[in-house]
Amino acid sequence: MKLSQNFLLSKTVAKSLCSAAQISKNDTVLEIGPGKRIITEELSLRAGKVIAVEADRDLCKLLEGKLSNNVQLISGDFLNVILPKFNKIVSNLPFKISSPALFRLFSLDWEKAVLILQKEFALRLVAKAGDRNYSRLSVASSFYCKAKILQTLPPTFFRPKPKVSAAVVLLEKAEPPFEASEEFWEFINKIFQHRKKILRAALKSAKLPTETKFGSRRVFTLNLSELKQVFEEICSVQTIKNQVSIRKQ
Ligand code: SAH
Repeated sequence: MKLSQNFLLSKTVAKSLCSAAQISKNDTVLEIGPGKRIITEELSLRAGKVIAVEADRDLCKLLEGKLSNNVQLISGDFLNVILPKFNKIVSNLPFKISSPALFRLFSLDWEKAVLILQKEFALRLVAKAGDRNYSRLSVASSFYCKAKILQTLPPTFFRPKPKVSAAVVLLEKAEPPFEASEEFWEFINKIFQHRKKILRAALKSAKLPTETKFGSRRVFTLNLSELKQVFEEICSVQTIKNQVSIRKQ
């Protein structure tokens, strides 16, 4: 398993992550990948409880016995472990799992997250409809959260030095604007595989009905409410087609 270990060198940054997340003794904070504790220690001073999930067994052995009483260490892959309840997340997220980790986090209940991410990934997370970086991740992020980049961190802030810069992102969980079914997210996945195409062509490539009033727009220019409308248009066409084919039988 690739563990994307780029350890943070700056205590000042570790402190500023905790400040940005406004950690207090009322909080239970999730940290994904505590590594050598640079963020964990700062969190344990400020939070009521810290849940630290680490996949590297050797690091877990080193961590045991060194952690404060209010830190619960869970040894395992964040993507598979059962998580206790928490309300905030502060983490220098292992790059390898950024995307699935964010999708797992979106589906859970929490208030605020402050994450170190690769800069390119962070730009996708905060992108708005029409931006060059607007992708499936941006759609999900804007559905579940308010997201903003707080700071860029050049490679020299980490050891070993990564090839690219990182960014600190603040996410605040928000009330979803509408109820989205699994089918809606499947639809988003399908059309965003053709994000630069005109919607009509993207729908055709995805083998979906092409009747929509947004047909001549490019996929990456559609905001959440427009995407919802396209999904509804397609569902109603599919329902009519199904009814017709049932009647023909
Ligand atoms: N928080 C530390 C370490 C960051 S490096 C610091 O900022 O210095 C990323 C950490 O995540 C490493 O400790 C790595 O072993 C751990 N990690 C990698 N993949 C993981 C996964 N799937 N689940 C949990 N931890 C993981």
